Amino acid sequence: MNLGPGRMSPTHRSALRRKRCQKAIRAYRHGKIQWADKQLAGVRMDLRKSLRAQQVGRCYFCRQLVDQERRNACEDIEHYLDKSKPHYRKWAFSPVNLTMACHPCNMQKGNRDLGDQAMRESQSLRPGSGSFKWLHPYFDDFHLNIEIHPGWVYAVKPNAPRAAEATAMLCDLELDQIKRIQKTAQRYHDLIARAVVLMNKLIQRNEIDRPRMKWVTAFIASINEELRWM
Ligand SMILES: [Zn+2]
Repeated sequence: MNLGPGRMSPTHRSALRRKRCQKAIRAYRHGKIQWADKQLAGVRMDLRKSLRAQQVGRCYFCRQLVDQERRNACEDIEHYLDKSKPHYRKWAFSPVNLTMACHPCNMQKGNRDLGDQAMRESQSLRPGSGSFKWLHPYFDDFHLNIEIHPGWVYAVKPNAPRAAEATAMLCDLELDQIKRIQKTAQRYHDLIARAVVLMNKLIQRNEIDRPRMKWVTAFIASINEELRWM
């Protein structure tokens, strides 16, 4: 199963450089608008598409599928260094500070500060500018440090180059706990149930056209594949 890249690449850099994005990003940096402002809707959508493609629809942290039904395009873009902290606001649109995360990981991460004092004082977001409490999506390799076994059982690899950071990440996100595994199974079952309800509705309303049917059946098949892995 393709669990997404070990080390991410900032492929969305070009989207952020577009003229129409630059104006809104400048307004954000100057504190004139907030992240959720509609002026940034296009930027958020571009980012989401790019991150989703690179991460094969999976959360960077737990590598499980991110719910595709949610319409709120800004919700699952994750700022590794929390943009609500004044010292990290400057990196809200830094390509290497952005990933896509599922709702449970996003909630579990909360607003914790993953940088150290050097990072807080740094003007550039680069490896060596400071240190990070968890694996970094762009500077560390996830698969060199963490292995995921069928059943969504997570372990730090023997001889992991960033064992401390990998351990902290799994612990803080509670990926090492059985309750998280149970929640995953429940979430996937719920997703299938919702997809089946949607399909029935479409059939009843006679709205089932070929692309929509294809999308729903592909969605159910992908969730089934995840469940087979449990
Ligand atoms: Zn996750």
